[in-house]
Amino acid sequence: MTKLNLKGVTRQELVQHLAGIGKERYRADQIIRWLYLQRVKDIDKMSNLSLSCREHLRGFSFVGQLELVKEQISQDGTRKFLFQLADGHTVETVLIAEKDRLTLCISTQVGCRMGCRFCLTGGSGFERQLSAAEIIDQVIQVAEIIAPESQGRGPITNIVLMGMGEPLDNFDEVVKALEIFMYDDGMQFSHRRLTLSTCGLAPEIIELGKRIYVSLAISLNAADDALRSELMPVNRRYDLAQLLAACRTYPATNQRRITFEYIIFAGLNDSLEDAERLAELIGNMPAKINLIPFNEHPELPFKRPEHQRIVDFVNCLQRHGMTVMTRRSKGADISAACGQLREAVTAGQV
Ligand code: SF4
Repeated sequence: MTKLNLKGVTRQELVQHLAGIGKERYRADQIIRWLYLQRVKDIDKMSNLSLSCREHLRGFSFVGQLELVKEQISQDGTRKFLFQLADGHTVETVLIAEKDRLTLCISTQVGCRMGCRFCLTGGSGFERQLSAAEIIDQVIQVAEIIAPESQGRGPITNIVLMGMGEPLDNFDEVVKALEIFMYDDGMQFSHRRLTLSTCGLAPEIIELGKRIYVSLAISLNAADDALRSELMPVNRRYDLAQLLAACRTYPATNQRRITFEYIIFAGLNDSLEDAERLAELIGNMPAKINLIPFNEHPELPFKRPEHQRIVDFVNCLQRHGMTVMTRRSKGADISAACGQLREAVTAGQV
């Protein structure tokens, strides 16, 4: 029998397992606290469980651990971790400090099958899905590394599902992980502090809105179908009209707006006409724009626009009443764009 990694098991699933051997419901709450608040590494450390309960747990489950393979620290303080999974695959997790936030960017797949042209992960293909346990353990391990004396999520304030992989292409495990992140006797993330970023799987966006509420970010990057299809093959499956129709079903309001991420590339999507099209496309939605000047990389053919070009683009959007944030590039010296640490280790560069 394959044993279950306890870290990805929901409260409801635990209750069902324990009921099968006549154990009370509150035992599930105790296990949740040991796993996500105390961050125990061993079932035997769950000292308020009876011996028979611990023996039963050991019979069908274990507490898995990701193994840290490599850590890099950028000059701006951004930290990037490469974790090894039990089968030898590796994933990246990036910790970004900004003002009063400490945001962890986590991965949801090994590789990715979406093939976005500007992304190293997309270029290296899809290997496998991460389990909920492997998604959650990135947070637990980083909390343990940066604040071993802390409990739960430690000083990490926000989670973004924006690392390797398309989260909605691993729907069930991702939803399970989000549910567990929000346990108020565990890691205690509020839905406002959890952001899921998608390249635009329209049916799954609709389904997500029905299942769980977290902040939604759409990796948009172009305001016309021809360019978006060129940059992001997913647009040939779900074009802009389908994507925006799905976004309109998501429970967003002016207080809880959808973020549209727009990586701005020199000579491709950085003209004033592009800005006008973008404003027209999403201007009537509860939306904000996160403008991301492209982080140049030798293996990718794209360039970052000149500073003034970006300023003009932002000014144009603001004249149309849009809320725009321009993200400063973090961790550029350690290739903090998704997939770049894994690529560098694979290539023996770090
Ligand atoms: S940008 Fe995201 S969705 Fe696109 S290929 Fe990269 S990891 Fe996948």
